[in-house]
Amino acid sequence: MRVPLLDLSEQYRTLAKPIRTEIDAVLASQRFILGPQVEAFEKAICTYCGTPHAIGVSSGTDALLAILMALEIGRHDAVITTAYTFFATAGCIARVGARPVFVDIDPATGNISPAAIQRYIAENCQANADGGLKTKSGEKIRAIVPVHLFGLCSEMDAIHQISERYQLDVIEDAAQSIGAEYRFGERAAKAGTMGEAGYFSFYPSKNLGAAGDAGMIVCRDEELATRLRVLRQHGMEPRYYHQVIGGNFRLDEIQAAILKVKLPHLDSWSAARRAAADFYRQEFTRLGLTKRIGLPAEPHRNRGLTNHHIYHQYVIRTAKRDQLREQLAKREIDTAIYYPLGLHEQKCFSYLGYKKGDLPETERAARETLALPIYPEVSREAQRYVVGAIAEFFE
Ligand SMILES: *Cc1c(COP(=O)(O)O)cnc(C)c1O
Repeated sequence: MRVPLLDLSEQYRTLAKPIRTEIDAVLASQRFILGPQVEAFEKAICTYCGTPHAIGVSSGTDALLAILMALEIGRHDAVITTAYTFFATAGCIARVGARPVFVDIDPATGNISPAAIQRYIAENCQANADGGLKTKSGEKIRAIVPVHLFGLCSEMDAIHQISERYQLDVIEDAAQSIGAEYRFGERAAKAGTMGEAGYFSFYPSKNLGAAGDAGMIVCRDEELATRLRVLRQHGMEPRYYHQVIGGNFRLDEIQAAILKVKLPHLDSWSAARRAAADFYRQEFTRLGLTKRIGLPAEPHRNRGLTNHHIYHQYVIRTAKRDQLREQLAKREIDTAIYYPLGLHEQKCFSYLGYKKGDLPETERAARETLALPIYPEVSREAQRYVVGAIAEFFE
């Protein structure tokens, strides 16, 4: 049996008709950029996330770039984030001229560790007279970018406490976790709505995927939302008068129309992913494999919330990761490694001066994690086959 990591063909088959109708309507209207479809999709995201503002953009990457520009984060600034993430998170920080500061992860979840943020601040920063923070090399710490990795929210309560104390903005990278919930203080909050701004990616393989590149920013502050809308169009307001330097960060009408058809199904897809994750856990437990492999954590504080995890990826851990992966490939089971190298060890960031050993948990995760096939339509038969092949490997 061949088991792909992700297969969206069945999902498309069930929605092909309404999607094609919407695409035809956009073609007939001959309006392709920032029109009624984008506006309607932005409204739908506001309702879904329970947030007052949503700004459709060209990708998740451009979303973060625009947010950093809107907050005027740039040269002589630093931003605290995780090195165990997709490149875009830190790439954007560097592109606006700020210094990415990498702190280690919580090995249980793979998300940024609030204790590691605290430790970094205590050991490497000085408080200014105004209560803000400066790094040893003199940059002002401006923000924290937690990444809600694999569909699970970071520890936002603890991160919020740190950001309040030191006047830092929180920008949530929710590229992999649209719809995921977290018990934030007393309320159940959706990913992306707990900081100054948050963003989603609609890259085709994300849980809500477009037919190309697309992204969305959400925020509470109206002024910030206005600034982001202006930045999305080259800082232009009114037409051909440029107040600030922005970019082309616009969302296409066709992508918005497609996403608008798919959004109402997102929660049922997340539920199906969760059911698949439950089945993996049940089977691994039944076969006594939980002593050999680490399963994804489901933090206790989010119990009772429907979307406590949306399983963008189902990632297990084992010290024998590479051998296991080879064996699964022989059985025609696709797997993936997210991520094989921490960002602090990437060549392009060598100027930041990190070395191997600086982020031990990130480095261990990069050696041990393996993503197994998961998508809403994955069959129990396919999952049984995957678990069976893993059991066989450890026998
Ligand atoms: C996908 C992703 C991004 C970038 O989104 P794009 O739409 O591909 O630009 C950023 N951060 C994380 C964690 C991602 O997974």
